[in-house]
Amino acid sequence: MTRLKLLILIATCFLVQIGVDQALKDNLLGKLEWTALLDPVAHLALALMVVIPLAMRCKTPRWPVLVALFLALAIDLDHFIAAGSFSIHDAISLPHRPIAHSFAVALGVASLCGIIFRSANAAALAALALISHISRDGSGGGSTPMFWPSDFEWKIPWSWHLGFWLLFSLTNALRCRAA
Ligand SMILES: [Zn+2]
Repeated sequence: MTRLKLLILIATCFLVQIGVDQALKDNLLGKLEWTALLDPVAHLALALMVVIPLAMRCKTPRWPVLVALFLALAIDLDHFIAAGSFSIHDAISLPHRPIAHSFAVALGVASLCGIIFRSANAAALAALALISHISRDGSGGGSTPMFWPSDFEWKIPWSWHLGFWLLFSLTNALRCRAA
């Protein structure tokens, strides 16, 4: 992928996140359960924006990259587990997000990835995919137990969240020698 393509990917992912966040705010599809289905699209866009430039910069093989992207989406399955139901209504009606949405669990899962792939890069990509997901949730509505087991809560300003990951992504894209 050329650097130009990488920058276009970053810009597209950035705009998708802004669009979905606005849609969620406006409840674009009229029913909260339906509009919530757009949320994984923004999570995937964020994961692509964070993971791909770093993976290219570090020349990470395909599988750890795919696993990191998968984790960025699969983390939300904890809603269904905690709700004990496959209903989207039940999953989004929890009093707070489950503990898989914490830095402690994210780092544990990332370490496991590092051990399985015997690669620090794989661990870093998984950690960043999960932490950026938690960061997005922590900047939106609802309560996120990011500092579990502590019950300290921090509402990340939305612009800080987006600005930080955009800067992170652009820095890696611009320092990517392969591009
Ligand atoms: Zn989530």
